[in-house]
Amino acid sequence: MRIDLHTHSTASDGTDSPQALMAEAVAAGLDVVALTDHDTTAGWETASAALPTGLTLVRGAELSGRWYGGEPTVGLHLLAYLFDPGYGPLVAELAEVRRSREHRAEGMVALLNADGIDVTVTEIREHAAGGTVGRPHLAQALIRRGLVATVDEAFTPEWLGSRYRLAKTDIDVFTALRLVNEAGGVSVLAHPRAARRGHIVPDTLIAELAAAGLWGIEADHMDHPVADRAHARDLARDLGLRVTGSSDYHGTNKTVRLGAFTTDPLVYEDMVSTATGTAPLAGP
Ligand SMILES: [Zn+2]
Ligand SMILES: [Zn+2]
Repeated sequence: MRIDLHTHSTASDGTDSPQALMAEAVAAGLDVVALTDHDTTAGWETASAALPTGLTLVRGAELSGRWYGGEPTVGLHLLAYLFDPGYGPLVAELAEVRRSREHRAEGMVALLNADGIDVTVTEIREHAAGGTVGRPHLAQALIRRGLVATVDEAFTPEWLGSRYRLAKTDIDVFTALRLVNEAGGVSVLAHPRAARRGHIVPDTLIAELAAAGLWGIEADHMDHPVADRAHARDLARDLGLRVTGSSDYHGTNKTVRLGAFTTDPLVYEDMVSTATGTAPLAGP
């Protein structure tokens, strides 16, 4: 059984529609795929409706959290699985995050406009397919205009890396964790050792998260050097956390392929029996 628990569609910063992603998952030989768009469940419905035979969908999201307990603050991503999408306090928090993302995108568009670059907010929203708008959508607009060649180039300091970048506000990670647990979900700390993306999460903080109800950590991820995967496993064993592996597939926005890393079926079964918010959905 091949299980990939971390993918993005056009509902956030992936390039495949939720429907196309489900077809891609089958083509990649997956039995189980989780849809984990940033701060939204907008892709759940279309993915569910397009579920091919033989594929099981785990509905999830990747929440952008922040730990405000130190200086500098630590940005971290929390994968939330099988939570009740109707749980009011979580719905409200996600809506607030998306509002602040919209506001941020508008601000960055204004900075580009001030330098004579004719990107519009409407265009960015259209390409975000109703989900969360982010810098990758702005990057795509710059590529369409031939101003940059790739998303990586768009993220350099001259562009969205610094010059046209605005800070974002994130949910306090302990609040996010509590809300996911209250909604009957299971949470996994995404890529805690991804130094290249500025996501090194201190072990002491992971221990605090474990004590606060974190369920697992993602050890096998393309941004983790081999030594860090082993470190994450050791830490998980010490803290009583489960270990997952996943691709963090983004379509053509990143080079990683679906199923590049997978999760042990026993861990997946444990997840399914722990969650109470919503069940995995099997194709017809
Ligand atoms: Zn992430
Ligand atoms: Zn991700």
